[in-house]
Amino acid sequence: MTALGDLLIARIARTGPISLADYMADCLMHPRHGYYATRDPFGAAGDFTTAPEISQMFGELVGLSLAQAWVDQGRPAPITLAELGPGRGTLMADALRATQGVPGFHDALSVHLVETSPALRAAQAERIPQATWHDSVTTLPDTPLLLIANEFFDALPIRQFVRDGDGWREKMVSVSDGALGFGLSDAAPVALLEDRLADTQDGNLVEVCPQLPFVTATISTKIQQFGGCALIIDYGDWHSLGDTLQALKAQKYADPLATPGEADLTAHVDFAAIAANANPAKFSRLTTQGVFLERLGITQRAQALARKLTGDARTSHIAAHRRLTHPAEMGELFKVISIYPSTATPPPGLEP
Ligand code: SAH
Repeated sequence: MTALGDLLIARIARTGPISLADYMADCLMHPRHGYYATRDPFGAAGDFTTAPEISQMFGELVGLSLAQAWVDQGRPAPITLAELGPGRGTLMADALRATQGVPGFHDALSVHLVETSPALRAAQAERIPQATWHDSVTTLPDTPLLLIANEFFDALPIRQFVRDGDGWREKMVSVSDGALGFGLSDAAPVALLEDRLADTQDGNLVEVCPQLPFVTATISTKIQQFGGCALIIDYGDWHSLGDTLQALKAQKYADPLATPGEADLTAHVDFAAIAANANPAKFSRLTTQGVFLERLGITQRAQALARKLTGDARTSHIAAHRRLTHPAEMGELFKVISIYPSTATPPPGLEP
């Protein structure tokens, strides 16, 4: 067992089973042993890779979409360009480079990064030294807000509940025979899940992300009040149904309880929950990543870059384009939604 695993086993033996959300929070962000808190997990040598790490085209097109939204809203100044969970800072660096030619944009913006991992803050500071860092969205400035969140919401802890009559049993992390295991709490009504009684049956499992409503409502309120927009990109679908908790270690699926703190833990994002908390701002139609990037001109950009490449570099560039957009790769599993002011239109690539 890992060092964090031993701590968790001792804690559960002392005070009883913990929710999956408490388990995930410790696995990901425990100050000494947390997966994100202590390492840079990205890239070919790491546990997983993400769209901005696959190709520079991703951050470039996201940046240009946000810059065009800024132009469409009348070039307000000053503005906040923010990212939630920026990883290595690659997306933001590519977005800034691609938007250098947009007149007035860089003079108007300041970069704000919401990141809780000290290890990843250090990696981000190497690429974006001019940024200001935040622990949470609450301290983002009161200005128009252009915000990007790629694979941020999937890293927020979730709770899981199994339907039992008109009540729910919560999946808990417990200890039996000295090892971590899953158990179920006694059935009880859950106010949070009142609306899921209509679309579930006995035995169905549903997931709830406790931090999602507050994060979404906070950025939506700022966007409605001051202008701007958010682009939220993640894997998931309109509603989540079933167990989507997944652990990745060295690019392979792993048992989520086997190596606490040493595997990435994520869950599918429930985009309906994001939409439900966008009020009073509006939300765009949920769109697949492949369609979003095509509309922004990824094919033309890919061809322009390919002309400058030969050999292996060209082959891997073509594979990266396919990986981001093809329905059998990330193109359909990943979805994009925007939050934008009720007085504006969605950013390029998305529809009202
Ligand atoms: N957006 C990046 C990284 C995705 S991984 C990319 O696409 O490559 C998830 C990121 O969110 C990491 O940077 C992680 O440290 C950060 N993160 C996870 N939970 C967080 C929280 N509650 N608050 C702020 N950042 C968080």
